[in-house]
Amino acid sequence: MTDCIFCKIAKGEIPSKKLFEDDDVIAFHDIHPIAPVHFLIVPKPHVASLADCQPEHAQLLSKMLLLGPKLAKEQGLDTGFRTMINTGAGGGQEVFHLHFHIFGGSQTLPKT
Ligand code: 5GP
Ligand code: ZN
Repeated sequence: MTDCIFCKIAKGEIPSKKLFEDDDVIAFHDIHPIAPVHFLIVPKPHVASLADCQPEHAQLLSKMLLLGPKLAKEQGLDTGFRTMINTGAGGGQEVFHLHFHIFGGSQTLPKT
């Protein structure tokens, strides 16, 4: 995807405050954090949203999920964190490259 901002970040064409990277996944701080710690876990292959995932993405998705608590701990989120996946325009998704939000560090997060 030539015009996708997260593909460009994954390829290193746009800078990001990176927390983790391997061949499959990249994690970086959100540019507009909504909590003291707010980062994104992004698969390197372009997948538009969770609704576009197929059975062959299962391993990638589990890797992304398991990375959440590891990076949250490294970021000092000792009492927990929130995980959010916005899917589609109706779900509030603005960047159409799959990503998991992980955020926390506030004294109080609103109940959903
Ligand atoms: P969405 O609403 O699609 O779930 O969230 C997209 C998130 O990506 C937003 O929280 C937004 O602040 C973040 N974001 C958008 N563009 C960039 C960027 O260029 N760099 C970084 N680090 N985050 C971005
Ligand atoms: Zn992309």
